[in-house]
Formats: sequence, C-alpha cells, structure tokens
Amino acid sequence: MSTQQATAEAGAFIHGAAHHNGGEPLPITNPADGRPFTEVASATPGDVDAAVASAREAFEGWSGLAVSKRGEILAKTARGVRAHIDELVPLLTREQGKTLRDSRIELRRALETLEHYAGLSKALRGAFAPQIDPGTDGMVLRRPLGVVGAIVPWNFPTTLLCNKLGPALVAGNTVVAKPADTTPLTTLRFVELLADGGLPPGAVNVVTGTGPDAGEALVTHPDVRKVAFTGSTRTGERIMALAAGGTKRLTLELGGSDPLIVCEDADLAKAASAASMGRFYNCGQACLAVKRVYVVESVADEVIELITAKAKRLRVGRGDAEGSQIGPLHTARQRELVAGQVERALAGGGQLVCGGGPPDDPELADGFFYSPTVMLEPAHDSPMATEEVFGPALPIWRVRDLDEAIERSNASQYGLGSSVWTADLEKAREAAERLECGYTWINSPTKVYDELPFGGVKSSGFGKEHGEEAFDHYTDQKSVVLRGG
Ligand code: NDP
Repeated sequence: MSTQQATAEAGAFIHGAAHHNGGEPLPITNPADGRPFTEVASATPGDVDAAVASAREAFEGWSGLAVSKRGEILAKTARGVRAHIDELVPLLTREQGKTLRDSRIELRRALETLEHYAGLSKALRGAFAPQIDPGTDGMVLRRPLGVVGAIVPWNFPTTLLCNKLGPALVAGNTVVAKPADTTPLTTLRFVELLADGGLPPGAVNVVTGTGPDAGEALVTHPDVRKVAFTGSTRTGERIMALAAGGTKRLTLELGGSDPLIVCEDADLAKAASAASMGRFYNCGQACLAVKRVYVVESVADEVIELITAKAKRLRVGRGDAEGSQIGPLHTARQRELVAGQVERALAGGGQLVCGGGPPDDPELADGFFYSPTVMLEPAHDSPMATEEVFGPALPIWRVRDLDEAIERSNASQYGLGSSVWTADLEKAREAAERLECGYTWINSPTKVYDELPFGGVKSSGFGKEHGEEAFDHYTDQKSVVLRGG
C-alpha cells in the first residue's frame, strides 16, 4: 500500500503522519459517473482533540522560529508539492469533478499563494511610533494567535486551503484543516507532501468528516483560537453562533452573487468573454463568479448574442476526458439545487436562451452534468437574482443606464465582487465607489490576485484573505510603550 493510500484510508493526518481512527467510513464519489470509488474514515471527536493537541504542541517551536525561516520552510515545502503536481491533478479531478486543466490551474494557484506568503515573510512587520511622550517610543508587535481551524469547501479544495495556510503559517500559527467530506483526498495528500518537504510535525493537521461532526467539534474546541471558514452564508452564520459563546476570532468568506455591468461604450467582445469565463469556469461553482449580468439596453442584443454563442460552444464532458471545458457539478444535490433555481426563475417569467437541463449525451447520463444555461429577464425577485446560484446558469437583464445597474446590483444581500465594463473613466470611478462589495474589476476578467485583499461585505462575510491585510486576521497586535531608564 502506498503512503498516499494509507493516509487517505486513515482519514486524518496528525503530527506529520497518517492517523488511524475508528470513525465511520465516508464514501467518495466521482461526480463524472456518480459512482463511489473509495472510502475515507471520518474523524471522531477524539481525532479532532488529537489534531488540536498536535497543533498546540507544535505552536511553540513553529512560532519561535525567525519569521524568515518560516517563510523559507514554506517556500521549500511548496516546491516539494509542485514536484508532485502530476499526481495531484487527476486526484483532484476524480473527487471534485473539474477538468484536468482546471485542476492544474487550481493546484498552481494554491502553490503560488503559499510562495507569495513565503516571500511576504520578509515584509511582516509591526509598527513604531517615535517620541509619543518625551523620551518615550511606542511599538506595535504582531503575535500569532495559536491554533487556527481552517474549514474549506469542495469547489476549490486546495486554493481555499492555501489562502488560509499561507498567512496563518507565516504569522506563526499552526493549523487544523477540515476539508469538505466529499473532497478530502487531495487535501490529505497535499498536506502529507508539505510534511515530507520539511514542514514540522503538527504545523498543519487534517481531520476529515462532515461539518456537523468534525467541523463543529473544531469550531467549538476551546484550544482553537481562530476559525477561518469558506462556504455558504448559512453555515457561516451557524459557525458565528457556535463561536458566540467565547472570544474566538473568525474570518468568514461566504456566498456571493456578483454582478457584471456592461455600459454602452464598453468593449463588448471582451465584456462578453469575461461574463462567459466568469460564469462557466469551474462549472459555475466559485464564490467569486459572474452570477448576474446587467447590460445597457442599446447594446444588449449584441452582448446577449456574444455570451450565448460562447455558452453554446462550451464542451461539456468528464473532467478527465480530452477537450472537456466544463465538467459535472460536484454532487447530485448541487445539480438539484441549480436545476430548481432555474426552473423557479423560468416559471416566474425568465426566458430560456440555451441550456436549462442536463446534456443529451448518453455517456454523461450517470454524472451530475448540467448544460451551460443563459436566461433573459427573470423576475428581479427570482432565485437567479436573490440567491447564490452555484452552477453554470447565467441570468441577463437589460437596464436603462449605469445608475439602474448599480441599484440592481446593490439590491442583493451579497457583496463579494462586481465587474464593470466601460471606456468612460468617470463612470468606472463612480461604479467602483458605489458598488457594495469587496472587489471590483474594471474592464478586467474576474481574476483574484495574491497582492490584493479579498473578502466580502453584507451576507458575503467579513475578514480578508490575500494581501498583506490577511496578516491582520492571523495576528494579535500588542502595543508596547518604551521609556528609557
Ligand atoms: P457548506 O457551507 O455547508 O460547506 C462548506 C464547508 O463547511 C464544508 O467543509 C462543510 O463540511 C463545512 N460545514 C458544514 N456545516 C458545518 C458546521 N455546522 N460547522 C462547521 N463546518 C461546517 O456548503 P455546502 O457544501 O452545503 O454547499 C451548499 C451551498 O453553499 C452551495 O450551493 C453554494 O451556494 C454555497 N457554497 C458557497 C461556497 C463559496 O465559496 N462561496 C463554497 C461552498 C458552498 P461538509 O461538507 O463535510 O459537511
């Protein structure tokens, strides 16, 4: 048996080794054919305790290293994982469903984020306030928090993990990660490779299992000082309620319904490409994704035609098949959710332009596939406008002008990202100021940069990942007043 299999079957990775527990086996299903292909033992409450104890034990040594040394170790271990990327790509596709190309992009992005934070280790500073009184200086020290619980969903198991690992580890914290119960395999192997590459035992541990079991045990554990969560708003609110009994720190990166606005003076071809890419990438299962399009009336027909042509051209297929551009949705439940949202919106007056159900191909009948869907003018109170649509379905509305587009955009409970396409700098400036969200792209596809802080407002959560700003969420700041003698 390979170490990879042993770790996966054990279902937990604690203190630098596979941890064999007695939890219930969880089947792992291939979304491309709906068939379970392996099982992973779910963590018991005792395993969560063991993982947190390991992270606690490792904390003193890890936080005691020079910060640049932590960065050096992280960079070296990231290189070690990179050497195994060809092994990780098919594993991610098999358990998540995404295309091999998207798996490779995801894994590269995950490693880039670790490397980015490894580099930032040399820039992690506090502050200094000279002469705050005669003969007295002030200093602001940054101290790591301790054990961080990282709860990660199934849409980007590795990038969303590394968004947390990078700043947490460089700042001196240790981590217990819980992947989604449907995507534990790549995470277990990824963390095992980090350990093989020299990350000290206990610096990162993994427990598998479901949210209500392993997830809640982690959130409520008294030795976990901070919980970094990505997932649905509903679960984020549940985590907040669970944490309310104490003083745990939280970062909640939750759902979104990002609008893309096309003005009459925009480069329409580029705007349509950004809409199509932003909506259908990863089969529409991304928090930052184009989930609504508002296009100014005078150019609406052209934009609708361009987007529809792109949606129709996308090749739906198994993630591991040559040439596939869109894989299946991750679970049967996800497909039901999206199909239900589309049906309700059509019943309420939306006009279907393309898609609207599973593809006809009999070879795909057993998988959780759904065709790229474009819909016009569903009611503004339909699920396409008010809920997070986590799948390949894009609603488009005609609007009078930018003002109406911004009002419609801001009417959502969510506030994660937004995009604006216009050649007019004044309009762009106004939109960036008025759109209620954490990230606005002007004339740019919805790409996330390690350099810029990312995180939402309103029901999309709070706290920042990426950027130097992420360190604020993984450190305590301590003021020191220093008077000589
Ligand atoms: P969840 O938010 O429930 O799951 C995300 C992570 O949280 C998983 O690791 C899950 O574990 C864990 N979790 C679930 N319940 C708890 C809990 N009570 N305490 C601690 N951890 C918990 O998302 P779903 O998978 O149910 O997806 C449903 C919808 O959520 C999607 O359709 C989409 O709209 C939205 N979503 C948004 C994401 C985003 O990036 N914005 C990501 C994922 C989902 P487990 O899965 O093992 O139970």
